[in-house]
Amino acid sequence: MASSMLPLLVGGPDLPQERCIATGTLPGPASRAILARRERAVSSALATAMPFAAVAAGGGVVIDADGNSLIDLGSGIAVTSVGNADPAVARAVAEQAARLTHACAMLSPYESYVAVAEALNRLTPGEHDKRTVLFSTGAEAVENAVKVARAYTGRSAVVAFENAYHGRTNLTMALTAKARPYKAGFGPFTPDVYRAPASDPFRDGLTGADAAARAIDHIERHVGVEDLAAVVIEPIQGEGGFIVPAPGFLEALAAWSRAQGVVFIADEVQTGFARTGTMFASEQFGIVPDVIATAKGIAGGLPLAAVTGRAEIMNAPAAGGLGGTFGGNPVACAAALATIDAYETGGLADRAREIGALLEERLAAISSRDPRIGDIRGRGAMIAAELVDPATGAPDAALAKRLAAACVQRGVILLTCGTYGNVIRFLPPLTIGDELLDDALDVIARELTSL
Ligand SMILES: *Cc1c(COP(=O)(O)O)cnc(C)c1O
Repeated sequence: MASSMLPLLVGGPDLPQERCIATGTLPGPASRAILARRERAVSSALATAMPFAAVAAGGGVVIDADGNSLIDLGSGIAVTSVGNADPAVARAVAEQAARLTHACAMLSPYESYVAVAEALNRLTPGEHDKRTVLFSTGAEAVENAVKVARAYTGRSAVVAFENAYHGRTNLTMALTAKARPYKAGFGPFTPDVYRAPASDPFRDGLTGADAAARAIDHIERHVGVEDLAAVVIEPIQGEGGFIVPAPGFLEALAAWSRAQGVVFIADEVQTGFARTGTMFASEQFGIVPDVIATAKGIAGGLPLAAVTGRAEIMNAPAAGGLGGTFGGNPVACAAALATIDAYETGGLADRAREIGALLEERLAAISSRDPRIGDIRGRGAMIAAELVDPATGAPDAALAKRLAAACVQRGVILLTCGTYGNVIRFLPPLTIGDELLDDALDVIARELTSL
């Protein structure tokens, strides 16, 4: 049974919003055939978390090659917040692809690139004069944020934090904290990158002020501010376990950076674009980053990333110092304009807060009966539950892995994360309905009880 035998399938919000594993178990025969070809054709270093091949998605579901319908709690890792195959995005992509697929922003400008930059300058926190440059991936955005900070300050050192994730390129591997699987075997890494303690209220019990004082003391002793170009931080850590810093931590760190002439870079690649209940997570902590890196949710699934920051910082590198062949591709820009319009006019930040309230309530009810849920945290539609051994509080990665594996067999796409791999995370599309969310939480509760 090949996918060509399925009726022509259009994704988007009109797909039946239901959970249905018609093949009994996953992968079904059509997915199994693709997975087998994948094994022969694709590097095994690209691990695949899910036992199915996707063919369509929309609203809150993903359809696999056998026609199974799974509830999407991952959005392709916080990318399709606006909904997969969103009709307005699909239309913008089709129209742009039929007109101009590429121009290269380094050769000739085009209006959609400028319009995306204008939108980001307007929407990111702070009323100051801003400039934007577009790229294709989150890691590229973070790298370029560091480049502008170095050019502006004339300093070279960069501080990142415990549990940080910033990407897989050489510089961003150095910024990323977790060794396995991201760094092991891939060194040497770029020099002059230092790691400071972060704020992890569940594990360190510190107030935000105390955690900031600890981080600042660490930086002053181990790095020294005279050589420090930038601190790079996720306002809410993503791959590290959806760790929300204690109140006051980010504020104190941002104030210290400003006083020291250190560029404060917020990596909002995962938290950006309505995901946490505001357009950017920085807003919830009252911080105004000097430079902000964005990607994932920016363009409804098309590859696009951005660095937006204070004009004097962004204009510091020499002309020609930033760029890339594909960065700000016109098709991706058209998708971004349709996507950003949906965030601004579609009430999606409000919807993210509603989704968060529903998830937190349901998870709290489960945890009141099951002490293996050690912590529930997050903001908006970026919620996580940390699984622990109730006797010792030790991380239980095996349970998180078994739970995710059991849930997908029942038609629920549940992702894990965390430095210890013991966190289940919820990143549903903001277009998912309450009924699907409730159904998914029923499945999770049932599977957890049986494990
Ligand atoms: C995913 C992610 C990145 C890297 O983005 P890519 O597009 O995968 O290169 C960087 N920072 C954060 C916070 C992320 O979640």
